Amino acid sequence: MKYCQECGGINHNEARICRRCGCNFYGERNRSYEDNDISAGLCVLSFLIPLFGFIYWAVKTNYAPTRAKACGITAMISFIFGLLINIGLLW
Ligand SMILES: [Zn+2]
Repeated sequence: MKYCQECGGINHNEARICRRCGCNFYGERNRSYEDNDISAGLCVLSFLIPLFGFIYWAVKTNYAPTRAKACGITAMISFIFGLLINIGLLW
């Protein structure tokens, strides 16, 4: 069951419009979902890239300290940039 945000009417899960008040379930809301998908993707990316950097740094730090350190710094920078983008300072 799906509850209408506008009138509280009960509708089928597959319903596209509310049968009680006629409001569109996929009108304005759908667009904001797409926006959220994009920022969610950016959010995941901006955390995944540094994460791999940190993992690489943690694994390689004993074998190739110089390269691992550079990788760790890169991860740190991209983490900070990712954080700023997610907060909305740069986007
Ligand atoms: Zn309704």
